[in-house]
Amino acid sequence: MSRNAESTAFRSALEVVRGVEPRVADAIAAELADQRESLKLIASENYASPATLLAMGNWFSDKYAEGTVGRRFYAGCQNVDTVEALAAEHARELFGASHAYVQPHSGIDANLVAFWAILADRVESPALRKAQARQVNDLTEADWFALRRELGDQRMLGMSLDAGGHLTHGFRPNISGKMFDQRSYGTDPATGLIDYDRVAEAAREFKPLILVAGYSAYPRKVNFRIMREIADSVGATFMVDMAHFAGLVAGKVFTGDFDPVPHAHIVTTTTHKSLRGPRGGMVLCGPELADQVDRGCPMVLGGPLPHVMAAKAVALAEARRPDFADYAQRIVDNAQALADGLLRRGATLVTGGTDNHLVLIDVSGYGLTGRQAEQALLDSGIVTNRNSVPQDPNGAWYTSGIRIGTPALTTRGLGATEMDATAELIHTVLSQTTPGSGPDGAPSKAKYVLDPAVAESVGKQAADLLTPFPLYPAVDLG
Ligand SMILES: *Cc1c(COP(=O)(O)O)cnc(C)c1O
Repeated sequence: MSRNAESTAFRSALEVVRGVEPRVADAIAAELADQRESLKLIASENYASPATLLAMGNWFSDKYAEGTVGRRFYAGCQNVDTVEALAAEHARELFGASHAYVQPHSGIDANLVAFWAILADRVESPALRKAQARQVNDLTEADWFALRRELGDQRMLGMSLDAGGHLTHGFRPNISGKMFDQRSYGTDPATGLIDYDRVAEAAREFKPLILVAGYSAYPRKVNFRIMREIADSVGATFMVDMAHFAGLVAGKVFTGDFDPVPHAHIVTTTTHKSLRGPRGGMVLCGPELADQVDRGCPMVLGGPLPHVMAAKAVALAEARRPDFADYAQRIVDNAQALADGLLRRGATLVTGGTDNHLVLIDVSGYGLTGRQAEQALLDSGIVTNRNSVPQDPNGAWYTSGIRIGTPALTTRGLGATEMDATAELIHTVLSQTTPGSGPDGAPSKAKYVLDPAVAESVGKQAADLLTPFPLYPAVDLG
């Protein structure tokens, strides 16, 4: 495809938008400029291909398509059927799954679909059957009460938030924490690694209906074969949320015991993180749960987003190409180069390194909170996010960690040399930042002091690092 085609497509699209609300067109153009200029180390973000982006901006957005392929509650869904079936086929082939459900609008939605599918499969609840049979209007007050009572007793065991687990794995701020009686497993305080014997012990004591594995801030591989054995030993359904590392599974960096698909009863994911697709979610499972999963809409989802399913089909087709495996391996090589560079300069890393796409710096070694470090780095043109470390003394708001990830910069083409240079820039900022104090002179967890000349110099070096690796090189907005 010619570079010209991509430039023409985006330029024309903006011209049309500009004709209605120029401020939106300007914001879209400004977003590209900002993304091009920033050293993006946010572990959950990436850059989708122009083909993926363009597949989303069209009239598929206008279509209602509740139901599933071939069984719709609306007429005229033949073209939606085509893209949904294609996305599901690519997902099944890519991950070796027998069933794929590509409708979830986000990772949270994919998890809700999975939770309800497991509940419907495992829990004898007449009220739930009624709700699922689209007889929601027939549910009496007593039915709703029964539904809450029958389902509210169910137990979930997942990874604790401060060890890197996710809010949707049974924590209070999310509906999953209200749906389930939740307990969590953490990591070994000495090594920072999952202690499988402790997980087995927690499972024996707690007897969960669902054992969840998966994380958004754990820098190591998880042995899904052992986790499945633990689930089987207590009769739990084993669910893996691979939202963060789906790209590493797709690219065959995580294989054997570390590939969740052959080991889990059900796997959920986002499509926009290391997988590099459009913003969305997906569920993979075996034949046993397939029917329940397909009831995601209308059980917990509204009508599917056909334009996003079209983009999922495009991105999954890209992920099936051989160069995606190469990309996935470079993500991990880059994370290791970044970790090595930081360690050599004296940083403290949770677990002492990484074997996936992310690195977690314990910034208490620099005398800073995560919030101070995040802001000081941002002032210097380096975009990261603060994150709890295991047993974090600063809680979930200020935190003691900085999470950095390599999927986005790897998409741009940066390699080991640039990762070492990035480690130098991060270390420079963190070692030159000192905690500030509040108006009363008391130590602050948010305020910090960083010489603006240092921030400016690092910002300039960060920009120079990106110059040889233009983002969306074929897109020239003129
Ligand atoms: C990002 C993430 C999610 C949520 O994804 P959204 O698309 O933001 O809803 C769920 N689980 C894990 C493990 C994640 O990392």
